[in-house]
Amino acid sequence: MSAVPAEAARTPAQEILQRVFGYPAFRGRQAEIIEHVVGGGDALVLMPTGGGKSLCYQIPALLREGVGVVVSPLIALMQDQVDALLQAGVRAAFLNSTLDFDAVVDTERRLMRGELDLIYVAPERLLTERFIGLLDALAERGRLALFAIDEAHCVSQWGHDFRPEYIQLSRLHERYPQTPRIALTATADALTREEIVVRLGLDSARIFVSSFDRPNIRYTVVERDNPRRQLLDFLAGRRGEAGIVYCLSRKKVDDTAEWLTTQGVKALPYHAGLETATRAKHQQRFLREDGIVMVATIAFGMGIDKPDVRFVAHLDLPKTLEAYYQETGRAGRDGDAAEAWMTYGLNDVVIHRQRIDESASDDEQKRVERQKLDAMLGFCESAQCRRVTLLNYFGEAAEPCGNCDVCLDPPQLWDATVAARKAMSAVLRTGQRFGTGHLIDLLRGKTTEKMTQHGHESLPTFGVGADLDDATWRSVFRQLLAAGLLEADASAFGALVLTASARPVLRGERELMLRRPQARRARRSGGGNE
Ligand code: ADP
Ligand code: ZN
Repeated sequence: MSAVPAEAARTPAQEILQRVFGYPAFRGRQAEIIEHVVGGGDALVLMPTGGGKSLCYQIPALLREGVGVVVSPLIALMQDQVDALLQAGVRAAFLNSTLDFDAVVDTERRLMRGELDLIYVAPERLLTERFIGLLDALAERGRLALFAIDEAHCVSQWGHDFRPEYIQLSRLHERYPQTPRIALTATADALTREEIVVRLGLDSARIFVSSFDRPNIRYTVVERDNPRRQLLDFLAGRRGEAGIVYCLSRKKVDDTAEWLTTQGVKALPYHAGLETATRAKHQQRFLREDGIVMVATIAFGMGIDKPDVRFVAHLDLPKTLEAYYQETGRAGRDGDAAEAWMTYGLNDVVIHRQRIDESASDDEQKRVERQKLDAMLGFCESAQCRRVTLLNYFGEAAEPCGNCDVCLDPPQLWDATVAARKAMSAVLRTGQRFGTGHLIDLLRGKTTEKMTQHGHESLPTFGVGADLDDATWRSVFRQLLAAGLLEADASAFGALVLTASARPVLRGERELMLRRPQARRARRSGGGNE
């Protein structure tokens, strides 16, 4: 750790950091970024959630002449940020739809009188003629310190946080070329990064990329077999700790929260379908009380500043690794040990795939979304350290971490060449029209109604896989999907089809090593539940 610099050697930025914000030293690249923006340069800051992005524009706003204009899509967060700044003695205010007319007029007046250091504005308001008029007047007097564009990934049409108004923000550059702009985001994949640069006209901006590693978070991915039991086992060692349990649907949120409550867990639901007041109340309790478990959809979390969230559990697979990283990143922001735990099954992939295929997006977007989903699945099925996979995805090199499920309990590999061939042949013989459930029944030689109905008992593949159990077959199919040898055809309810890469394996030209299913390993070591 760097020592607190001597009084004489302190830069103006350090002086503000200590006097106003009460922190002894800058973290990561904060000092560099601040110096660059204070000097009038544009910046694109990629920093993980909790990394300390806010200071990167707050301090330059205080050091430069005039007011810093912060564009943020998160109305709920504006209030919190402004409250915190006011407490620190910074003259800050916000303008958004929650204010009544008088409050708006009052804030605008203070803005024009030079009584504000920072103003937070929703993007749709920033671009109104009225506000642009104010900015023009400020610019004329040389009183625009900077523009900060928070959550800059909202400009990306590929992401799920896309805000059309963000596209218009390029106008700021055209109209106020002298005012430095700093765009900030925690979403770091190359595609999004490029899009931000292009759409916001940040070609000459310096890009500051921080490491996305969150060493205090332990990543664990388990195959779903009895999700409630698995969740309860996970929570058992964590009584009294605050955490978030993410589910895909509102209904599952409600059911899970209710069920957890009956199990003695202090759980609350949170999703966009609840009354605003209920949502606010639950959020407040989560922030203020100890040990609340928030069961939520992804509507919960963006901008939640609670440093001591000890775990984030996913009952369903997120759509992308970016989303997974963002959501798990809400754990352990205080730097203490935290857990990111997830259960997943093949069904998740089928559901996501179906949503993508049925969405109104154009083909190019669908292709990108499918790629991202494949990467997510690949992460789950990988035999490589989770952290390495995750950081590589964000373009960062890493060494095995020793603090994830793969490092702590390395998967055993087995030669699955023959099994894979059987699985693929089952797919082919049934006309590529069936999902895993039926295919596994077929391989194991189970006579079901469906089997008889389709005359599948007479297929040569019927029963050729009786030597392996259901869990192993499920794991084989998942890994074939993750490896891109099979594909889920969402238009046919998740029927599996072969891809071109399957051919060498089918022909016996390629060997295939797969990981053993975790559930069996867990059971063998006594950690299971059957
Ligand atoms: P982000 O916007 O990147 O998610 P924040 O700006 O909200 O992160 O900062 C996360 C937390 O870290 C906040 O509680 C903030 O006060 C704290 N923080 C930021 N910079 C420093 C620093 N240099 N020293 C100590 N704490 C810091
Ligand atoms: Zn690891």
